[in-house]
Amino acid sequence: MFVAEVGSKADMERILAGTPWMVGRHAVVLKPYDERLSADEIIFDRMEIWVRILKLPLGWMNQQRGTRSMSLIGHVVKMDVDGDGKASGAFLRARVAIELDKPLRRGVLLRMSKMEEPKWFEAHYERLPYYCFSCGLMCHSKIDCPHPAPRNEFGKLPYDVPLRDQRNVGEEYSPSRELQLSPLVAAPQRTGHPTIIVVLVLTDRL
Ligand SMILES: [Zn+2]
Repeated sequence: MFVAEVGSKADMERILAGTPWMVGRHAVVLKPYDERLSADEIIFDRMEIWVRILKLPLGWMNQQRGTRSMSLIGHVVKMDVDGDGKASGAFLRARVAIELDKPLRRGVLLRMSKMEEPKWFEAHYERLPYYCFSCGLMCHSKIDCPHPAPRNEFGKLPYDVPLRDQRNVGEEYSPSRELQLSPLVAAPQRTGHPTIIVVLVLTDRL
């Protein structure tokens, strides 16, 4: 666990609201510093990330049903909707706190009406860090996976699917999204294996 001290409360809020941060492409999981807790009481179990659900019917592109569908992925922090609670564009977008001990959701099954079978809608994640293609967790690679999955007839692992926001495919990875931490924190980058780095954020100007 590392402690990052920033210069102002505004900076701290910007950092906490700007997740996921990465070192290389390893997830950096942040928590606000709380001096009342001991180190083993602090649990880094969630990470906020922007999630998109693709190709939803228009009747689901709103605050109410959108929140219902996003809740299947994690705790909804904020829906990207206008003042009337409506979403527009090619996908529904929300900031969601995902639980790190659960596999990433590849999509959601939604029942459009009582008469119909549930339908599958793919989910994408913006700036998704490294994760395991075998089990969908973020804390190790497919090489270190304790539950290696069989490959399908195309030789692909279950989570070897496009989960990253497709707009970024082919774009250079932007180092501006990396947290500049000490060389010690940056060390996992050299191992080549995904690691979650945990950091407490505090400011001395509360
Ligand atoms: Zn795994």
